[in-house]
Amino acid sequence: MHRSELTVDLGALRHNVRVLLRALAGAELWAVVKADGYGHGARDVAAAALAEGASALCVATVAEALALRGSFREARILVMGPAASVEVAPARTAGLELAVVDGAVPEGVRVHLKLDTGMGRWGLGELPASPAEVVGVMSHLASADCDPAFTDLQVARFREATARLSHLTRHLANSAGVLRFPAARLDAARCGIALYGLSPFGGDARADDLRPVLGWRSHLALVKRLERGESTGYGRRFVADAPEWIGIVPVGYADGFRRDLTGTSVRVGEELCPVVGTVSMDAFAVRLERKLDAGTPVTIVGEGVPLERHAAHAGTIAYELATGIQSSPARARRVVRGA
Ligand SMILES: *Cc1c(COP(=O)(O)O)cnc(C)c1O
Repeated sequence: MHRSELTVDLGALRHNVRVLLRALAGAELWAVVKADGYGHGARDVAAAALAEGASALCVATVAEALALRGSFREARILVMGPAASVEVAPARTAGLELAVVDGAVPEGVRVHLKLDTGMGRWGLGELPASPAEVVGVMSHLASADCDPAFTDLQVARFREATARLSHLTRHLANSAGVLRFPAARLDAARCGIALYGLSPFGGDARADDLRPVLGWRSHLALVKRLERGESTGYGRRFVADAPEWIGIVPVGYADGFRRDLTGTSVRVGEELCPVVGTVSMDAFAVRLERKLDAGTPVTIVGEGVPLERHAAHAGTIAYELATGIQSSPARARRVVRGA
């Protein structure tokens, strides 16, 4: 039996594409598939998103874009992060589009000028006179998930700075921007997290009619009884104060189940059970209400166990947990449904 199984539900992904396209009301949806499609598998996600109506792919690096170009000969692929000068020639040959984030405008390749309207990261202070190969102008929202006033300010700055550039594709919104700020939709929006059915707001994605794409399941590899005073795991952080049944799940931090997930809950059979003790590299323990059989299914992420809840528990965001899950066949079996 595999230690764990990751499922990627492309039916859910297509549903999320339709939700975003409806919200975009005619603006283009560009699918953000950086970091291997937020850990879901960039190629599968990109194919499903394009087939359902997304009109371009966005990644962070030239290497990510080149890896996709082999499978997607015709698609528009935008590299949103900075490109090194040695990467410009391969990007040109592959027909990629590059974001200009710091002054130097590469030649012979289609570019998008990136304006810093408040993110305070990559982006130009002001727009240069448009060179010939500029096809788009973009900016990035810093706090569309949590600060409406600042987002309105960024939208206003961007609209003003690009008012005379309506011949270019203007794109500003990320997932949170599309879902909450109609004025940010402009000509196109770059959506990642919502495509994957995860809430950009950290809450319940169903509130925005999004369906989670990723499932992560394993099983109890071992069930054991701890007598009073006995412990499980490194550091003896969980000591039974009465006889206890615990189960060992063969998934650990090297699989992306982080050490700060101690105390979160996973579903064992039909019951939610707390993760107890220190998460080790290859296993974690759950506290059982009663003796269960080895082999009992464990839902780490899936129905009733949203990734957002683990993220809140760990004091992080679903983005970080999703991109940290290891899908290499040496660690997990990956199954794509609905292709
Ligand atoms: C990652 C990224 C996005 C996508 O953001 P989501 O919140 O996942 O929708 C959009 N634009 C840029 C520049 C990004 O780096």
